Amino acid sequence: SENSRVRQDAKSAEAFARAKKVIPGGVNSPVRAFKSVGLTPVYMERGAGSRVYDIDGNSYIDYVASWGPLIMGHAHPEVVEALRKTAEKGTSFGAPTELETLMAELVCERVPSVDVVRMVNSGTEATMSALRLARGYTKRSKIMKFEGSYHGHADSLLIKAGSGVATLGLPDSPGVPEHVASHTITVPYNDIESVKLAFEKFGEEIACVIVEPIAGNMGVVPPLPGFLDGLRAITSEYGSLLIFDEVMTGFRVGYSCAQGLYGITPDLTCFGKVIGGGLPVGAYGGRREIMEMIAPSGPIYQAGTLSGNPLAMAAGYTTLKLMTHDKYELLERQAVKLQLGIERNAAKHGIPITINRVGSMVCPFFTEKTVINYDAAKTSDLERFKSYFAAMLDLGVSLPPSQFEGMFVSAVHSDEDIEATIAAHDGALGRL
Ligand code: PMP
Repeated sequence: SENSRVRQDAKSAEAFARAKKVIPGGVNSPVRAFKSVGLTPVYMERGAGSRVYDIDGNSYIDYVASWGPLIMGHAHPEVVEALRKTAEKGTSFGAPTELETLMAELVCERVPSVDVVRMVNSGTEATMSALRLARGYTKRSKIMKFEGSYHGHADSLLIKAGSGVATLGLPDSPGVPEHVASHTITVPYNDIESVKLAFEKFGEEIACVIVEPIAGNMGVVPPLPGFLDGLRAITSEYGSLLIFDEVMTGFRVGYSCAQGLYGITPDLTCFGKVIGGGLPVGAYGGRREIMEMIAPSGPIYQAGTLSGNPLAMAAGYTTLKLMTHDKYELLERQAVKLQLGIERNAAKHGIPITINRVGSMVCPFFTEKTVINYDAAKTSDLERFKSYFAAMLDLGVSLPPSQFEGMFVSAVHSDEDIEATIAAHDGALGRL
């Protein structure tokens, strides 16, 4: 089979050497550099459905999915066609288009907490703008976030962050002024008692709590029963806003996102990834009364030359339209199969693995601890992860190159893909 041959990487190595001369670390986003797994990054040439193909001629079953957006797989024909048709009419106007309204209507219809939604160009912009809005609306300065959560790279949010920050072990970033950092309160994920204590102390100063309703940037960590309800109750009591950062979970874990799954109504929601169908998109939305504070209807400023870009709207809208209820059922079935296979392999090889999963977000941690927060995630055997990651790559499976990231199952992963992945996982554990 195409996966039994030895993986070639000479061309990727050459491409990386060349890139390092003109791009910081050779990459435009840190985790892509494979630094923590000690390998040369794989340079991709193309993707089709569930597979990606690199410039050395290797192919992989892909669970990176561009870090989440490609829930319908690579180069989905309907998405490509929508892009082509849209591009032929011009790629950007800096004037409103009807596609933006269609998109906003779709988001508002699927996510009942969202009355009004503003499009931006990335998850970072969405969270950064939602924070400014929360601070402007409440006239308060402090914010609360959770250790090991990642909300993009705005200054206020780069404190004890997850994702690449966790992967590279950089808990605080130089360049974030102390006076900015001092307004960010961090507490452990799933720890409602710590939230209460912090609110007893600073409650009247806290503009908002921003939370990943399912944490996905310390590996995958689902909310414990009562955690999200607790946040809703406490923020309401103190007049703080509850912001759900659904950049990763939005339209991935369910038709109405994580908030639909758990039945919680946040004040504001941030979107990204799936909502852009593989193009650069973010969005933030919520209660009309709050959102109307944004310019031009209100005084809080936020803008974007390419916001609501026609190509981005076309890819996002087409992707969301493809994500009908049955697609979420399919994702659940495929992800359960994958989880059971991984658990079977772990038992067979006697390797401790704790697997966390919500819908198509799947994360096997190399630990026997129950993983409910970042400290528990950090008990994972990172050396073992490194070897596992390399083995999976050799066996034709592309995973996120970090223990602190989840795998994304897509609606185009076939039964054969899942079976081949489980077989590769068996082989990889055998090599450890
Ligand atoms: N919030 C969450 C929950 C995320 O997972 C990410 C990206 N992984 C972001 C925000 C930032 O999004 P972007 O990379 O598009 O700026």
